[in-house]
Amino acid sequence: MCGIVGYVGKRDAFPVLIDGLKRLEYRGYDSAGVAYFCNNKIKTVKVTGFIKELERELGNIEDNPKIGIAHTRWATHGEPSITNAHPHTDCTGKIAVVHNGIIENYRALRQYLTERGHKFTTDTDTEVIAHLIEDVYNGGTDMPFWKAIRGALREVEGTYGIAVLFSEEPDRIFAARHGSPLLIGAGEDEYLVASDAAAVLRYTNRVIYLDEGTLATVKADSIVISTLDAESITPKIEKISLSLNEIEKGGFPHFMLKEIFEQPQTLENAFRGRLNLEEGTARLNGLKDYFDDLKDVERLVITACGTSWHAALIGEYLIEELARVPVDVDYASEFRYRNPIIKDNEAVIVISQSGETADTLAALREAKRQGAPVFGIVNVVGSTIARETDAGVYIHAGPEIGVASTKAFTSQVMVLEEIALLLGRMHGYSMAQGVDLIKEIKRVPELVELFLKKEDEIGTIRKIAEKYYMCNNFLYLGRGINFPVALEGALKLKEISYVHAEGYPAAEMKHGPIALIDKNTPAVFIATEDPLYDKIVSNIEEIRARGGPVIAVATEGDEQIMELTDNVIYVPQAVPLVMPMITTLPMQLLAYHIAVIRGTNVDQPRNLAKSVTVE
Ligand code: GLU
Repeated sequence: MCGIVGYVGKRDAFPVLIDGLKRLEYRGYDSAGVAYFCNNKIKTVKVTGFIKELERELGNIEDNPKIGIAHTRWATHGEPSITNAHPHTDCTGKIAVVHNGIIENYRALRQYLTERGHKFTTDTDTEVIAHLIEDVYNGGTDMPFWKAIRGALREVEGTYGIAVLFSEEPDRIFAARHGSPLLIGAGEDEYLVASDAAAVLRYTNRVIYLDEGTLATVKADSIVISTLDAESITPKIEKISLSLNEIEKGGFPHFMLKEIFEQPQTLENAFRGRLNLEEGTARLNGLKDYFDDLKDVERLVITACGTSWHAALIGEYLIEELARVPVDVDYASEFRYRNPIIKDNEAVIVISQSGETADTLAALREAKRQGAPVFGIVNVVGSTIARETDAGVYIHAGPEIGVASTKAFTSQVMVLEEIALLLGRMHGYSMAQGVDLIKEIKRVPELVELFLKKEDEIGTIRKIAEKYYMCNNFLYLGRGINFPVALEGALKLKEISYVHAEGYPAAEMKHGPIALIDKNTPAVFIATEDPLYDKIVSNIEEIRARGGPVIAVATEGDEQIMELTDNVIYVPQAVPLVMPMITTLPMQLLAYHIAVIRGTNVDQPRNLAKSVTVE
């Protein structure tokens, strides 16, 4: 779930491992640890809390190993503690393992191994891997160690990315994956093993993405890869285009704020080269081989989790409006277990920022099993979802480090605009309508920039945050295409400021949530100009009549709304179809400022992880 870094080569391993872990810090974690060799014996160092502590501990150690493995843990089995922090070792202390993911049959394995005399010292699922490898290794005669790993992994159910050290072969790291990402960074006479490219970038931009179900033996000067069925695989080196700059803060106090302010650029990146003004349509080459399927498509299912699920809801609105093709949106975690119905002439879209979201990946596989074409909307290039979908569209938002998604969300919406436009043009949306929409889409980055600049100068949202940061409950209300924006606003606030917030369709409020209204429960309304504006105004009146404070997000020039409430955040005028990419900005900034005033950890909120690779 969180992070793995391994190093073997000519450098001192500690600084490389610490630097790598720091680059993965944004993913959220609760403890960290390192294993290395000292006189051909494995030593481990573990801490709870921050990587800085681990760095301090390593600073007190005299050893200068040239090989090591390191881990940040996001506990799934067993509380966060030094004992449960990785690396975990076998009974002899000769094998050390770091692991991302979950071993689902760990109880059965633990019982089996205990009966065979293995002594367990932690509450984690991971520890079974170390003992299982030991057990398989001791059970064979002259068995190479890598074969023992392979044998052990054949018994394991669940997901894993692992890196392993073995004291009888102290010149190498073993790495394997199934369901959790893992890659190898290839330098000059050195290799890194990592769960994310950001951890290797400082040393190399040449990477080998390990495929599902593969095992690698990595030495300073060589790498051997095979499948768990012992077929050998030729390592394929790919160049990544990420720059270090992209993964640093660039003067902003938080990654989240940096990413909010990147949106004029990221939104433009999401449509660059993809809008065909002459024909009023979108040019999505990634989907080209499936145009016939899309022409005949009778229903679409969009499935995702969290923020991506909110983008999916906006996608539903857009696609139904432009293409008149029915769309169902489903939580990936529900879709995968519900025995979903997908008929001929239906297709599935999956959305995931990281491209590694476990539930979304499983939903994708379920849809494929049912024979549906599956398209991906993904940010991380080369991620598992990107590779396993039949076709797709990258959002090109660049690395998103803040755990709470911001720029990836607006870029997902932008890509959904393009897909809706393409489908629309295949299903009766006219060229003239297409041309008009493209003109509006192209204005979005500029409008976003305008809003952010003005907000930076006048600080309306910061002032509103100062006024209400003590409140413990918020309601977020919107209608139509802005209803999912309300959901996203509430989620942002919950995620980073730990304040309880609910998003609702504004009209639903009367069916329950209005009972919550009092002077300490602000309601955030998205009340921009669109055909439902008058209805929203009535809902605002209803809240006001019950003494609830109202914060309205309204269109520039709307003076009437000023009379109804003193908290107005004005956004630039735009057509309703593109409005969510603008109305989302005040949601992000309000959550950000409230979190900063409340003093929470904005970029790494408690209990959350960036890339949710467990179900
Ligand atoms: N399931 C393992 C544990 O709880 C690994 C969690 C992780 O991916 O960090 O220790």
